[in-house]
Amino acid sequence: MPAINPERVLSDLRTLATFGAYKTGVHRPTLSAPDIAAREWFAQRMTEAKLDASIDGIANILGRSRAPGRKALAGSHLESQNHAGWLDGPLGCVYALEAARAISEDPVTADLGVDVVVFCDEEGHFGSFLGSRSFIGRVEESDIDAARDATDGRPMRAALTAAGWAGRPRHVIDRARYAAFFEAHIEQGDTLESARLRIGVVTAIVAIWQYRLTVTGEQNHAGTTSMARRRDAGLALVQLLGAIDRRFPQICGERTVWTTGRIALDPGAKSIIPGKAEALFQLRDADPKVLDRLDAELNALVRDADERGRCKVALERLSASRPALMDEALQAALDRAAERHAPGAHIRMPSGAGHDTQWLAPLLPSAMLFVPSIGGISHHWTENTSDEDIVLGAQVFTDAIADVLRA
Ligand SMILES: [Zn+2]
Repeated sequence: MPAINPERVLSDLRTLATFGAYKTGVHRPTLSAPDIAAREWFAQRMTEAKLDASIDGIANILGRSRAPGRKALAGSHLESQNHAGWLDGPLGCVYALEAARAISEDPVTADLGVDVVVFCDEEGHFGSFLGSRSFIGRVEESDIDAARDATDGRPMRAALTAAGWAGRPRHVIDRARYAAFFEAHIEQGDTLESARLRIGVVTAIVAIWQYRLTVTGEQNHAGTTSMARRRDAGLALVQLLGAIDRRFPQICGERTVWTTGRIALDPGAKSIIPGKAEALFQLRDADPKVLDRLDAELNALVRDADERGRCKVALERLSASRPALMDEALQAALDRAAERHAPGAHIRMPSGAGHDTQWLAPLLPSAMLFVPSIGGISHHWTENTSDEDIVLGAQVFTDAIADVLRA
């Protein structure tokens, strides 16, 4: 199996961390000056690896291998959340680049090709997965025109123009070219670390079902309206959320999570009984059967609250994505590579976070590898992974790609 170069992996990652360095992490929003510089630097590294590299009209970077035959496609993203960690994204980009380098440098595998892709804006500064969705042909020029940076309102078009990339043709996936897509990522949770495991093989990227709960009561005076006759929408909403939280553990899956991301009371003043209350409620699971079951129960709880309480309660489902299932044969290749280099220290697990892979998976057999996040911390500047785990993950990732390409 092709051997990776550990020093090269670590030094590339440390160099990337200098673009927009912030404490021990990075502040590198999409198309900020450090992000543009990081992309140019990475494209240069691709060229040095003898990949035909180009940055396209939405700042995606594709480095094409010159090897014959069907290739693997591998990559992730380079930008960060605001004031966040150094590995979320770059780890997967450097692993992909190292796999391309190590496989082409080993005479035994030199005829196998790995294309490296860096998607733009996975972190959603300008939109939702604009880079990976562009790559699968699902972003129009008008979408780019409409996109604004959520932090400062800057138009994406202006940012692309400043970088010199606006109007360039965009890379679009050539499905016939690829046997598989691979993305590596830090876990961003503590499943691996708390079980003293070193490699996660992702089974599926969870689906996210998003709801709005709306409670309508009666706005009235907080002092003169008796407890017996008031219709407090805020109280009814909180009671309903409590009922959901008591019921769901009895019927959820092993890794189901639910979140009330926002509660708004109207009018939201200290001496007024809220006449209206609204919550954004979200479910995540990788199993559609579990989601269907929880959805039915949520509807039943809302119906019950509506019929028995003093307020009107309504539920609206805003969105319901499908889980992205990872390819079984690719998971098995990652299992085998992990077992070779870290016997007994790997596990299959779903991803609770969204990743670019979820957009590729319907088009190409896809796989994801996780390495541990120290303390389970991510989207924070203290995010980190040990050097040993970084190096191990790169080797497992490269082995699995070579294995799949040779099969
Ligand atoms: Zn990420």
